Amino acid sequence: MNNQFDIIIVGSGVMGCATAAYLLRMDNRLRVAIIEKDPTYRRASTILSDGNVRVQFNLKENIQISQYGNEVLKTFAQDMAVGDKIPYVDARYQGNLFMVDENGRAEAEQGLQLQQSLGCNVEWLSASEIEAAYPFYKTMGCIGGTLGHEDGSVDPNAVLMGYKDKAIASGAQFIQGEVTNLLADGRQMRGVQLASGDKVMSETVLNAAGAWARDLALTVGVDLPVLPIMRQVYIAETHFEPDGFLPSIFLPTGLYAIHENGGHFLIGKSLPDDPVGFDFSVNQQRFVDLLWPELVDYLPAFERLKITGGWAGLYAVNTLDGNAILGEWPELRGLYLANGFSGHGFQQCHAVGRYLAELILDKDPALDLSVFTPQRILDNKPIFENVHRLI
Ligand SMILES: Cc1cc2nc3c(=O)[nH]c(=O)nc-3n(C[C@H](O)[C@H](O)[C@H](O)COP(=O)(O)OP(=O)(O)OC[C@H]3O[C@@H](n4cnc5c(N)ncnc54)[C@H](O)[C@@H]3O)c2cc1C
Repeated sequence: MNNQFDIIIVGSGVMGCATAAYLLRMDNRLRVAIIEKDPTYRRASTILSDGNVRVQFNLKENIQISQYGNEVLKTFAQDMAVGDKIPYVDARYQGNLFMVDENGRAEAEQGLQLQQSLGCNVEWLSASEIEAAYPFYKTMGCIGGTLGHEDGSVDPNAVLMGYKDKAIASGAQFIQGEVTNLLADGRQMRGVQLASGDKVMSETVLNAAGAWARDLALTVGVDLPVLPIMRQVYIAETHFEPDGFLPSIFLPTGLYAIHENGGHFLIGKSLPDDPVGFDFSVNQQRFVDLLWPELVDYLPAFERLKITGGWAGLYAVNTLDGNAILGEWPELRGLYLANGFSGHGFQQCHAVGRYLAELILDKDPALDLSVFTPQRILDNKPIFENVHRLI
């Protein structure tokens, strides 16, 4: 095996593969290695994501990241086609409806104003307008909601495979193996060591290890505020089958229901006691006890439903501020980070992949994402998206 590369990417989820594809688009002579411990992606967050995309954020950069992602998706099939392999991302812009109560009013108004100023198609609906337009949604004392017409769902597997196939077709070398150690020499990255004992060498290494990112960084003494936290998603089948697609609904507590098709919905909620660690066990009783009663208040038709499936996956939660950590670690040259995406990383892969490639190749970034610099960890300067909770 050739063991000398210009760039090594650890982790071939959507962040690793998107970055590889952008790197090789910018310079197709680069020697890029992508190292992945489990090419079945059984536990990769990308595959376990809901695939929701939205422009409804409160930080300008998060909004711009999503706008860029929506642009990329328009031509993704052509851009990522490799021979007759054409990814079908199944983008479905059914809208996200964020219900707003009195406590969330100021933040919703600030977000809406910013989104609209950036050209996003998001509108305010009063409680009575919501109930008139969507009679199955009850507003339960909410003052209204924001409906984002550019929000929706995209197939994470198709996006991942699109970037992966493109990166490999453009010359990236895909190596199956577990990185047990990053290798550094003083303040300079040198490469990685695999469980097989092999070493793969480069002065530039990207940590794209998702929920495993902290463990990986610790091997060179870098302590990232990123924890693996298990989140569960339930698949519910209801007797009520709306025509077309309903907007996905997000309640002030974070409970959400995404209409998939017919009577099928994806339902989830981040809970304060969700287990920290590498736990993938699904607990249906939590749905019955903690989610269902609240859901029925807002969607009375959900009184009768059947849980037909579900899964558990890991958010890589940035415990400092819930936002991405992007760029070179200030105290170790050549260690780049694409970490801590918490619950909204899938939709960010396009802008993040391009941005990381630009940083690594020392190009001027098309979109300035320096607000997500790792330096803020050392300075203890969080940048919150949402003052009420980490998302
Ligand atoms: C239940 C759930 C729902 C979500 N819903 C959404 C959503 O609707 N919208 C959204 O935008 N985001 C969502 N997310 C978040 C999103 O899935 C992630 O932010 C995103 O997929 C992160 O991609 P990644 O490439 O960083 O991580 P991953 O996809 O986890 O990829 C990391 C890869 O690194 C590999 N790896 C780790 N350590 C090593 C090592 N030492 N050596 C070699 N390989 C290694 C892993 O095997 C894995 O394949 C959700 C996440 C979950 C869990």
